Amino acid sequence: MSALMLCAPLGVEARALRRGLSDSGEHVQVTRTGYGPVRAAAAAERIAASAPAMLAIGGVGGGLTDDLRVGDVVVASEVTDGVTTVRCPSAPLVAGELRRAGLRARTGPIVTVDRLVRGHERSQLAATGAVAVDMESAPLLAGAAGSPAIVVRAISDTPAHSVFNPRIVSGGLAALRSLRQAAPVLVRWAAAMGERHILLASPRSFCAGVERAIEIVELALEQHGAPVYVRKQIVHNATVVADLERAGAIFVDELSEVPDGAMVVFSAHGVSPEVRHEAARRGLDAVDATCPLVAKVHAEARRYAADGYLVALIGHAGHEEVDGTLGEAPGAMALVETAADVGRLDPADPRKVAYLMQTTLAADEANSIVDAITTRFPTATGPGSDDICYATTNRQRAVRAIASRSDVVLVAGSANSSNSQRLVETAQRAGTAAYLVDGPEDIQLGWLAGASTIGIAAGASAPPAIVGQIVAALGGLGAVQTEDVIVATESIQFGLPKELRQQGADVG
Ligand code: SF4
Repeated sequence: MSALMLCAPLGVEARALRRGLSDSGEHVQVTRTGYGPVRAAAAAERIAASAPAMLAIGGVGGGLTDDLRVGDVVVASEVTDGVTTVRCPSAPLVAGELRRAGLRARTGPIVTVDRLVRGHERSQLAATGAVAVDMESAPLLAGAAGSPAIVVRAISDTPAHSVFNPRIVSGGLAALRSLRQAAPVLVRWAAAMGERHILLASPRSFCAGVERAIEIVELALEQHGAPVYVRKQIVHNATVVADLERAGAIFVDELSEVPDGAMVVFSAHGVSPEVRHEAARRGLDAVDATCPLVAKVHAEARRYAADGYLVALIGHAGHEEVDGTLGEAPGAMALVETAADVGRLDPADPRKVAYLMQTTLAADEANSIVDAITTRFPTATGPGSDDICYATTNRQRAVRAIASRSDVVLVAGSANSSNSQRLVETAQRAGTAAYLVDGPEDIQLGWLAGASTIGIAAGASAPPAIVGQIVAALGGLGAVQTEDVIVATESIQFGLPKELRQQGADVG
């Protein structure tokens, strides 16, 4: 069995790939397979006879959707000739790598036809969901005979820039430039190939507070109708926010962006009393999606402040949860981010110091700050590490359980998600390379080369489907075997705010 078979139908396409490979110092043979489906089918027989371990097809193609521009690259999620469809699960990994290489790249179905098509025929192909068209990929893919395969087509013409237009020459040149730039990525794809054992940290993904917050926005949209305004991201996840935006939610940073009388939802991270008062003063129809476990910390802050304590809040500056909690008693609270900050606390009475925590901290990090507080103020009181919520604690335990067995850990979550960031740090503290990814397109192929055991975790705000997408993408690089590593089971559920429960009853 040989290694990577890299092929291109036309001579110009093969030359573009070769130039791209030589630019990057790669030495991979590029095979020219010939124009059109008949030559492609004949080439596929020769390819299959050589039993490649993996097959990459590069060429130019026609764009079918209005959002494509000449020079864009489409990575086939699947290729069909209308009879047979072959899936390419690793497409998101390659598309992400192409983007990081500076190309405009997307994934999508590619359709192979037996002649040049234009106008109405192209619209018909687009209506099937295909985003690009070519004349060789489907028959060529038969040569892979089940081995991992990838197809990239650089766009030379689009609905607005027709293949029968004289400007096709400039489109073709732009496409060949992109193909040249894409060539080294195909080699990196091949280097990431391998069978893998995947350890799935459990629990992972949504916690009860996040599920409740998303359900609140969905119910508000259902009962009130769009638009529903949401102050700040409802939870810190790009996919969740994009899905709710499509459903009619409008995310704003401040209440001043919400029109008078509109419905507004406060995010799971909580808000300060000042924000609530402002909403009431403006007559906004406010619904509170603050997680009950964050609300518990707010209540603790109010109680300690009312009892005359200086409250040290252990957390990260600028995080919405921290801003909201500090707002409960601004004159009686101080943010403590590090043990060094403890030296700057200036209580009126050193015997009356209390401490609270952001719910999504790493327990070991927070405990070292508590030690610094209790060393300086021996009578300091607080909840221990109980402010760190069950979901954060469970997910960190699960990451620790997989990290020591993994070559690399991938954490599904957005960059602004505190609990997801803490999972990355937890894995790194265990000595394992770990990376935060919003989805499979964020995974760098270089992280995977030589990694045979991959741990996957997901922050409390990351949709479970993302983990499935990552596993599927890795499955496009070779066979995968998954193992759930379960450190706890979760059954906690939080009730909905009474406004929505009441309206739900009325509607039902
Ligand atoms: S991570 Fe914890 S505090 Fe935050 S929403 Fe989930 S359960 Fe609530």
